[in-house]
Amino acid sequence: MQANDYIRLENEFGAHNYKPLDVVLSRGQGVWVWDADGNKYLDCLSSYSAINQGHCHPKIRQTLIDQAHKLTLTSRAFRNDQLGLFYRELCDLTHTHKVLPMNSGAEAVETVIKTVRKWGYKIKGVPNDQAEIIVCANNFHGRTITIVGFSTDDNSRNGFGPFTPGFKIIPFGDADALEAAITPHTVGFMVEPIQGEAGVIIPPAGYLAKAKAICKRHNVMLILDEIQTGLGRTGKMLAEEHEGIEADLTLIGKALSGGFYPISAVLSNTEVMSVLQPGEHGSTFGGNPLACAVARTALKVLVEEGMIENAAAMGAYFLDGLKQISNPIIREVRGKGLLIGVELSPDAGGARTYCEKLKEKGLLCKETHDHIIRFAPPLVITQNEVDWALEWIGAVLGQG
Ligand SMILES: *Cc1c(COP(=O)(O)O)cnc(C)c1O
Repeated sequence: MQANDYIRLENEFGAHNYKPLDVVLSRGQGVWVWDADGNKYLDCLSSYSAINQGHCHPKIRQTLIDQAHKLTLTSRAFRNDQLGLFYRELCDLTHTHKVLPMNSGAEAVETVIKTVRKWGYKIKGVPNDQAEIIVCANNFHGRTITIVGFSTDDNSRNGFGPFTPGFKIIPFGDADALEAAITPHTVGFMVEPIQGEAGVIIPPAGYLAKAKAICKRHNVMLILDEIQTGLGRTGKMLAEEHEGIEADLTLIGKALSGGFYPISAVLSNTEVMSVLQPGEHGSTFGGNPLACAVARTALKVLVEEGMIENAAAMGAYFLDGLKQISNPIIREVRGKGLLIGVELSPDAGGARTYCEKLKEKGLLCKETHDHIIRFAPPLVITQNEVDWALEWIGAVLGQG
């Protein structure tokens, strides 16, 4: 079969809820992927930051194989010999007190919403069914009904109502708006440290620290959605470290397994998690031994192989190189670590065209919204590889 045959199959038999670039990948290693015809590409998306450790990392792969020979699923009706070790290692690395494991990012978001609501009723004393959670405009937290209900993106929301009540939307990056929106019924403020899907939107310096102080003052849980920014992506284990704070609750997912297996988690720094009693929440696959074993190794290589430091160094170098590209169509280049956005002017003809051209040169990236290209390669990228990427990005974006 050839690339076009695979594409035809997808189009004929699959739902069309994505609009992928027409590249059919069949192999990956580190920062590189190969298509069905043998062409090689530098992956500058990393599956939306789920492949921070690089494609098919050999140590994570070996763990997956070994654990698959031993035990894959027990359900939480019984215990397994990986879950406790996963908890302890994750807590040590992220300075967390308690962990609740789930599978996808959206499930971690749903879990944290349930947790802070329960906390609001049991501990804070909010009247029944009155809890409010504050979120930000242009957020991306996933695709369930509750989550898209508080999205401000028409594509995500329209036609999917009725939605879950109890959410209030404020502008991103505006600490005063947060303070003004809080009422005695507010139980949580959920925010991304950097809005990835919105186009790598970085809030003003000090925003998270201010949000933390405001939440503390009003007895509101600060929830950071680090599903995309966490696990080394921005050059720190968690992006909150850039502002020297600790959220009350933190969500991680994506790179938690290095791209091998869906696993996510809610991390808690307070006793808030103790409001959940047996039977009140769960997941058949959540905390399964295969996921836990894979995640343990994925976390281990992230730290032991210096990927977080590399993300900081290569991110700064990549960002600097992108800023050297001169063309009036480039409106702004911004980023932290290896989460970088290049915003084009609205009359540039759309970011998609440039992603198509970059694909022809051997670089895979994806537009986010119409005018922004995100560059987020695996954290194992070398300086030579960044130079190679910059050369082609310059060739495509630099022609004025
Ligand atoms: C990807 C993402 C999610 C949703 O994760 P899924 O695994 O796709 O459900 C939630 N929040 C953020 C910030 C994300 O980037």
